[in-house]
Amino acid sequence: MMNAAVLHKPGHLSLESVPRPTIDADELLIAVEANTICGTDLRLMDGTKTAGVRPGVILGHEFAGRIVEVGATVQGWSVGEQVSISPAVVCGQCPPCQRGQENMCDSLRLFGYEFDGGLAEYVRIPADAMTHGCVVAPPQEVPAPLLALAEPLSCCLNGLRRTPVESGMTVLVIGTGPIGLMHCALAAHAGARVIACGRPGRLAPARAMGAAVTTELSGEALRDFVLEETGGQGVDLVILAVGASESIAVSIECVRSGGAINFFAGFPKGILSSIDPNLIHYREISLVGSANARFEDHRQAVQMIAEGQIDLSPLLTHTFPLNQLDEAVGAVRERLGLKVALVPTAHD
Ligand SMILES: [Zn+2]
Ligand SMILES: [Zn+2]
Repeated sequence: MMNAAVLHKPGHLSLESVPRPTIDADELLIAVEANTICGTDLRLMDGTKTAGVRPGVILGHEFAGRIVEVGATVQGWSVGEQVSISPAVVCGQCPPCQRGQENMCDSLRLFGYEFDGGLAEYVRIPADAMTHGCVVAPPQEVPAPLLALAEPLSCCLNGLRRTPVESGMTVLVIGTGPIGLMHCALAAHAGARVIACGRPGRLAPARAMGAAVTTELSGEALRDFVLEETGGQGVDLVILAVGASESIAVSIECVRSGGAINFFAGFPKGILSSIDPNLIHYREISLVGSANARFEDHRQAVQMIAEGQIDLSPLLTHTFPLNQLDEAVGAVRERLGLKVALVPTAHD
Protein backbone atom coordinates (compact mmCIF):
# COMPACT_ATOMS: atom_id res chain seq x y z
CA MET A 1 0.00 0.00 0.00
CA MET A 2 1.02 3.66 -0.27
CA ASN A 3 -0.17 7.10 0.76
CA ALA A 4 -1.84 9.17 -1.95
CA ALA A 5 -4.00 12.29 -2.34
CA VAL A 6 -7.13 11.00 -4.05
CA LEU A 7 -9.65 13.34 -5.70
CA HIS A 8 -12.88 11.36 -5.49
CA LYS A 9 -14.98 14.16 -6.94
CA PRO A 10 -14.74 17.95 -7.00
CA GLY A 11 -14.31 19.18 -3.44
CA HIS A 12 -13.44 15.74 -2.07
CA LEU A 13 -9.69 15.33 -1.81
CA SER A 14 -8.43 12.92 0.82
CA LEU A 15 -5.18 11.40 1.86
CA GLU A 16 -5.60 7.64 1.82
CA SER A 17 -3.87 4.36 1.71
CA VAL A 18 -4.18 2.88 -1.79
CA PRO A 19 -2.53 -0.10 -3.48
CA ARG A 20 0.98 0.53 -4.71
CA PRO A 21 0.75 0.59 -8.54
CA THR A 22 2.01 -2.32 -10.58
CA ILE A 23 3.49 -1.93 -14.06
CA ASP A 24 3.30 -3.74 -17.38
CA ALA A 25 6.32 -4.79 -19.41
CA ASP A 26 6.46 -1.49 -21.31
CA GLU A 27 6.12 0.82 -18.32
CA LEU A 28 8.14 2.38 -15.52
CA LEU A 29 7.50 2.77 -11.82
CA ILE A 30 8.73 5.99 -10.24
CA ALA A 31 9.25 6.68 -6.55
CA VAL A 32 8.14 10.29 -6.16
CA GLU A 33 10.69 12.54 -4.46
CA ALA A 34 8.77 15.83 -4.62
CA ASN A 35 5.55 17.26 -6.02
CA THR A 36 4.92 20.99 -6.08
CA ILE A 37 1.36 22.31 -5.90
CA CYS A 38 0.06 24.98 -8.23
CA GLY A 39 -3.04 27.11 -8.52
CA THR A 40 -4.51 24.68 -11.01
CA ASP A 41 -4.46 21.95 -8.34
CA LEU A 42 -6.59 24.18 -6.12
CA ARG A 43 -9.06 24.64 -8.97
CA LEU A 44 -9.18 20.88 -9.46
CA MET A 45 -9.73 20.33 -5.73
CA ASP A 46 -12.52 22.88 -5.63
CA GLY A 47 -14.15 21.69 -8.84
CA THR A 48 -13.80 25.04 -10.64
CA LYS A 49 -11.76 23.09 -13.22
CA THR A 50 -13.17 19.71 -14.15
CA ALA A 51 -12.28 19.07 -17.81
CA GLY A 52 -10.30 15.89 -18.28
CA VAL A 53 -10.45 14.96 -14.60
CA ARG A 54 -11.15 11.31 -13.83
CA PRO A 55 -12.98 10.75 -10.52
CA GLY A 56 -10.66 8.92 -8.15
CA VAL A 57 -7.48 10.25 -9.74
CA ILE A 58 -4.40 10.92 -7.63
CA LEU A 59 -3.59 14.63 -7.97
CA GLY A 60 -0.24 16.18 -8.84
CA HIS A 61 1.25 17.14 -12.20
CA GLU A 62 4.49 18.83 -11.11
CA PHE A 63 6.73 16.06 -9.84
CA ALA A 64 10.13 14.48 -9.96
CA GLY A 65 11.33 11.14 -8.71
CA ARG A 66 13.49 8.12 -9.21
CA ILE A 67 12.97 4.96 -11.23
CA VAL A 68 12.39 1.97 -8.95
CA GLU A 69 11.14 -0.57 -11.47
CA VAL A 70 11.71 -0.97 -15.21
CA GLY A 71 9.34 -3.07 -17.32
CA ALA A 72 10.88 -6.11 -19.04
CA THR A 73 10.69 -4.66 -22.56
CA VAL A 74 11.67 -1.07 -21.68
CA GLN A 75 15.01 0.04 -23.05
CA GLY A 76 17.15 3.02 -22.19
CA TRP A 77 16.11 3.43 -18.57
CA SER A 78 17.50 1.91 -15.41
CA VAL A 79 16.61 1.65 -11.76
CA GLY A 80 17.96 4.52 -9.67
CA GLU A 81 17.87 7.19 -12.39
CA GLN A 82 16.42 10.53 -11.38
CA VAL A 83 13.66 11.70 -13.71
CA SER A 84 11.33 14.59 -14.37
CA ILE A 85 7.91 13.92 -15.85
CA SER A 86 6.22 16.01 -18.49
CA PRO A 87 2.57 15.53 -17.51
CA ALA A 88 1.03 15.79 -20.98
CA VAL A 89 0.34 12.43 -22.59
CA VAL A 90 -0.46 13.01 -26.26
CA CYS A 91 -1.60 10.88 -29.20
CA GLY A 92 1.04 11.86 -31.76
CA GLN A 93 -1.54 11.38 -34.55
CA CYS A 94 -4.05 14.22 -34.53
CA PRO A 95 -3.60 17.38 -36.65
CA PRO A 96 -2.18 19.50 -33.78
CA CYS A 97 0.30 16.72 -32.90
CA GLN A 98 1.26 16.44 -36.56
CA ARG A 99 1.85 20.20 -36.67
CA GLY A 100 4.20 19.93 -33.71
CA GLN A 101 1.63 21.47 -31.36
CA GLU A 102 1.34 18.44 -29.13
CA ASN A 103 0.41 20.75 -26.24
CA MET A 104 -2.88 21.26 -28.13
CA CYS A 105 -3.39 17.51 -28.76
CA ASP A 106 -7.03 16.67 -29.51
CA SER A 107 -6.88 13.81 -27.02
CA LEU A 108 -4.54 15.29 -24.43
CA ARG A 109 -4.48 13.32 -21.18
CA LEU A 110 -2.56 14.62 -18.19
CA PHE A 111 -0.96 13.15 -15.10
CA GLY A 112 -2.91 14.41 -12.11
CA TYR A 113 -6.10 14.57 -14.22
CA GLU A 114 -6.49 11.30 -16.09
CA PHE A 115 -3.38 9.40 -15.02
CA ASP A 116 -2.49 9.12 -11.35
CA GLY A 117 -0.10 11.92 -10.42
CA GLY A 118 2.68 12.82 -8.07
CA LEU A 119 0.91 13.34 -4.73
CA ALA A 120 1.73 9.75 -3.83
CA GLU A 121 4.69 7.59 -2.97
CA TYR A 122 4.79 5.93 -6.40
CA VAL A 123 3.62 6.76 -9.92
CA ARG A 124 3.14 4.34 -12.77
CA ILE A 125 4.37 5.75 -16.08
CA PRO A 126 2.02 4.22 -18.68
CA ALA A 127 3.29 3.06 -22.05
CA ASP A 128 1.71 6.00 -23.91
CA ALA A 129 3.70 8.40 -21.75
CA MET A 130 6.88 6.44 -22.42
CA THR A 131 6.36 6.46 -26.19
CA HIS A 132 5.93 10.19 -26.51
CA GLY A 133 8.82 11.33 -24.36
CA CYS A 134 7.19 12.26 -21.04
CA VAL A 135 10.19 10.98 -19.05
CA VAL A 136 13.23 13.23 -19.01
CA ALA A 137 16.46 12.57 -17.11
CA PRO A 138 18.41 15.63 -15.95
CA PRO A 139 22.07 15.78 -17.05
CA GLN A 140 23.03 15.75 -13.37
CA GLU A 141 21.31 15.20 -10.02
CA VAL A 142 19.04 18.04 -8.95
CA PRO A 143 17.26 18.63 -5.60
CA ALA A 144 13.86 17.03 -6.25
CA PRO A 145 11.60 20.03 -5.42
CA LEU A 146 13.63 22.13 -7.85
CA LEU A 147 13.33 19.47 -10.55
CA ALA A 148 9.55 19.36 -10.03
CA LEU A 149 9.50 23.00 -11.15
CA ALA A 150 10.52 21.90 -14.65
CA GLU A 151 6.80 21.56 -15.38
CA PRO A 152 5.73 25.17 -14.73
CA LEU A 153 9.02 26.39 -16.21
CA SER A 154 8.33 24.42 -19.40
CA CYS A 155 4.99 26.22 -19.75
CA CYS A 156 6.78 29.56 -19.42
CA LEU A 157 9.30 28.50 -22.09
CA ASN A 158 6.43 27.58 -24.41
CA GLY A 159 5.05 31.07 -23.81
CA LEU A 160 8.40 32.62 -24.68
CA ARG A 161 8.49 30.69 -27.93
CA ARG A 162 5.26 32.51 -28.83
CA THR A 163 6.62 35.91 -27.81
CA PRO A 164 10.41 35.75 -27.72
CA VAL A 165 12.25 38.00 -25.28
CA GLU A 166 15.50 39.50 -26.44
CA SER A 167 18.24 41.47 -24.79
CA GLY A 168 17.39 45.15 -24.48
CA MET A 169 13.63 44.67 -24.46
CA THR A 170 11.40 45.98 -21.70
CA VAL A 171 8.88 43.41 -20.48
CA LEU A 172 5.91 44.06 -18.20
CA VAL A 173 4.86 41.01 -16.20
CA ILE A 174 1.39 41.43 -14.72
CA GLY A 175 0.85 38.95 -11.90
CA THR A 176 3.48 37.89 -9.40
CA GLY A 177 2.41 34.39 -8.50
CA PRO A 178 5.03 31.69 -9.01
CA ILE A 179 4.42 31.72 -12.78
CA GLY A 180 4.76 35.50 -13.01
CA LEU A 181 7.95 35.28 -10.97
CA MET A 182 9.32 32.60 -13.30
CA HIS A 183 8.59 34.90 -16.23
CA CYS A 184 10.49 37.68 -14.42
CA ALA A 185 13.48 35.35 -14.05
CA LEU A 186 13.36 34.14 -17.67
CA ALA A 187 12.99 37.62 -19.14
CA ALA A 188 15.82 38.96 -16.96
CA HIS A 189 17.92 35.93 -17.95
CA ALA A 190 17.33 36.85 -21.61
CA GLY A 191 18.66 40.34 -20.94
CA ALA A 192 15.37 42.23 -20.78
CA ARG A 193 14.49 44.97 -18.33
CA VAL A 194 11.56 43.63 -16.33
CA ILE A 195 8.74 45.62 -14.77
CA ALA A 196 6.71 43.41 -12.42
CA CYS A 197 3.22 44.31 -11.29
CA GLY A 198 1.51 42.44 -8.47
CA ARG A 199 0.59 42.17 -4.81
CA PRO A 200 2.70 44.21 -2.37
CA GLY A 201 3.97 41.06 -0.64
CA ARG A 202 5.29 39.67 -3.90
CA LEU A 203 7.31 42.65 -5.05
CA ALA A 204 10.44 41.78 -3.07
CA PRO A 205 10.40 38.22 -4.49
CA ALA A 206 9.93 39.73 -7.97
CA ARG A 207 13.09 41.79 -7.49
CA ALA A 208 14.88 38.70 -6.16
CA MET A 209 13.88 36.88 -9.35
CA GLY A 210 15.24 39.63 -11.58
CA ALA A 211 12.65 42.40 -11.92
CA ALA A 212 14.30 45.81 -12.20
CA VAL A 213 11.16 47.76 -11.31
CA THR A 214 8.11 46.69 -9.32
CA THR A 215 4.71 48.20 -8.76
CA GLU A 216 1.40 47.34 -7.15
CA LEU A 217 -0.52 49.89 -9.24
CA SER A 218 -3.40 48.91 -11.52
CA GLY A 219 -5.65 50.52 -14.14
CA GLU A 220 -4.79 54.02 -15.37
CA ALA A 221 -2.21 54.49 -12.63
CA LEU A 222 -0.36 51.43 -13.90
CA ARG A 223 -0.53 52.72 -17.48
CA ASP A 224 0.86 56.11 -16.42
CA PHE A 225 3.62 54.44 -14.44
CA VAL A 226 4.65 52.19 -17.33
CA LEU A 227 4.63 55.03 -19.83
CA GLU A 228 6.79 57.10 -17.50
CA GLU A 229 9.21 54.18 -17.14
CA THR A 230 9.48 53.76 -20.92
CA GLY A 231 9.84 57.35 -22.10
CA GLY A 232 6.18 57.45 -23.13
CA GLN A 233 6.56 54.50 -25.53
CA GLY A 234 5.19 51.53 -23.62
CA VAL A 235 6.83 48.15 -23.17
CA ASP A 236 7.83 45.72 -25.92
CA LEU A 237 5.91 42.86 -24.38
CA VAL A 238 3.27 42.36 -21.71
CA ILE A 239 2.94 38.92 -20.13
CA LEU A 240 -0.42 38.44 -18.47
CA ALA A 241 0.39 36.00 -15.69
CA VAL A 242 -2.85 36.51 -13.79
CA GLY A 243 -6.32 35.72 -15.06
CA ALA A 244 -7.88 39.06 -14.12
CA SER A 245 -10.11 40.59 -16.80
CA GLU A 246 -9.33 44.16 -15.75
CA SER A 247 -5.68 43.59 -16.64
CA ILE A 248 -6.51 43.01 -20.33
CA ALA A 249 -7.55 46.52 -21.32
CA VAL A 250 -4.73 48.16 -19.39
CA SER A 251 -2.15 45.87 -20.92
CA ILE A 252 -3.10 47.16 -24.39
CA GLU A 253 -2.40 50.66 -23.15
CA CYS A 254 0.94 49.64 -21.66
CA VAL A 255 2.40 48.05 -24.79
CA ARG A 256 4.30 50.04 -27.42
CA SER A 257 3.14 50.17 -31.03
CA GLY A 258 4.18 46.96 -32.73
CA GLY A 259 4.48 45.23 -29.37
CA ALA A 260 2.81 42.07 -28.13
CA ILE A 261 0.64 40.83 -25.28
CA ASN A 262 0.89 37.22 -24.21
CA PHE A 263 -2.26 35.82 -22.60
CA PHE A 264 -0.33 33.35 -20.50
CA ALA A 265 -2.72 32.86 -17.58
CA GLY A 266 -5.98 30.99 -17.79
CA PHE A 267 -9.03 33.14 -17.09
CA PRO A 268 -12.14 32.12 -15.14
CA LYS A 269 -14.60 30.30 -17.36
CA GLY A 270 -17.10 32.53 -19.15
CA ILE A 271 -15.17 35.74 -18.65
CA LEU A 272 -15.51 38.43 -21.32
CA SER A 273 -13.46 41.55 -21.86
CA SER A 274 -14.02 44.76 -23.82
CA ILE A 275 -11.09 46.25 -25.66
CA ASP A 276 -10.68 49.10 -28.12
CA PRO A 277 -9.96 47.33 -31.44
CA ASN A 278 -8.53 50.52 -32.89
CA LEU A 279 -5.68 50.37 -30.43
CA ILE A 280 -4.78 46.99 -31.89
CA HIS A 281 -5.31 48.17 -35.48
CA TYR A 282 -3.56 51.52 -35.50
CA ARG A 283 -0.75 50.45 -33.22
CA GLU A 284 -0.21 47.01 -34.78
CA ILE A 285 -0.36 45.17 -31.48
CA SER A 286 -0.14 41.37 -31.44
CA LEU A 287 -2.37 39.41 -29.06
CA VAL A 288 -0.91 35.97 -28.45
CA GLY A 289 -2.00 33.07 -26.28
CA SER A 290 0.03 30.23 -24.84
CA ALA A 291 -0.95 27.12 -22.91
CA ASN A 292 0.84 24.09 -21.50
CA ALA A 293 4.16 23.06 -22.98
CA ARG A 294 5.72 20.93 -25.67
CA PHE A 295 8.17 18.14 -24.95
CA GLU A 296 11.01 20.25 -26.23
CA ASP A 297 10.11 22.91 -23.65
CA HIS A 298 10.19 20.32 -20.89
CA ARG A 299 13.59 19.04 -21.95
CA GLN A 300 14.90 22.61 -22.07
CA ALA A 301 13.41 23.39 -18.65
CA VAL A 302 15.09 20.33 -17.10
CA GLN A 303 18.39 21.33 -18.64
CA MET A 304 18.15 24.96 -17.51
CA ILE A 305 17.39 23.90 -13.94
CA ALA A 306 20.04 21.17 -13.81
CA GLU A 307 22.76 23.37 -15.25
CA GLY A 308 21.84 26.28 -13.01
CA GLN A 309 21.13 28.59 -15.96
CA ILE A 310 18.19 29.86 -13.97
CA ASP A 311 17.82 29.78 -10.19
CA LEU A 312 14.26 28.98 -9.14
CA SER A 313 15.19 28.13 -5.56
CA PRO A 314 13.81 31.44 -4.14
CA LEU A 315 10.37 30.15 -5.22
CA LEU A 316 10.57 27.08 -2.99
CA THR A 317 9.46 28.54 0.31
CA HIS A 318 7.67 25.58 1.92
CA THR A 319 8.07 21.82 2.09
CA PHE A 320 5.58 19.52 3.79
CA PRO A 321 5.48 15.76 4.20
CA LEU A 322 2.64 14.24 2.19
CA ASN A 323 0.81 13.25 5.37
CA GLN A 324 0.40 16.98 6.10
CA LEU A 325 -1.52 17.50 2.87
CA ASP A 326 -4.17 19.74 4.46
CA GLU A 327 -1.55 22.07 5.92
CA ALA A 328 0.24 22.21 2.57
CA VAL A 329 -2.96 23.03 0.67
CA GLY A 330 -3.80 25.65 3.30
CA ALA A 331 -0.40 27.27 2.78
CA VAL A 332 -1.06 27.53 -0.96
CA ARG A 333 -4.57 28.91 -0.43
CA GLU A 334 -3.45 31.52 2.07
CA ARG A 335 -0.48 32.48 -0.09
CA LEU A 336 1.83 31.94 2.87
CA GLY A 337 4.68 31.33 0.51
CA LEU A 338 5.43 30.94 -3.16
CA LYS A 339 5.83 27.30 -4.18
CA VAL A 340 4.81 24.56 -1.75
CA ALA A 341 6.44 21.16 -2.23
CA LEU A 342 5.21 17.86 -0.81
CA VAL A 343 7.58 15.03 -0.18
CA PRO A 344 6.17 11.52 0.16
CA THR A 345 5.89 9.85 3.53
CA ALA A 346 6.06 6.11 3.88
CA HIS A 347 2.84 4.27 4.40
CA ASP A 348 2.34 3.13 8.01
ZN1 LIG B 1 0.84 23.34 -12.41
ZN1 LIG C 1 -2.67 14.44 -30.60
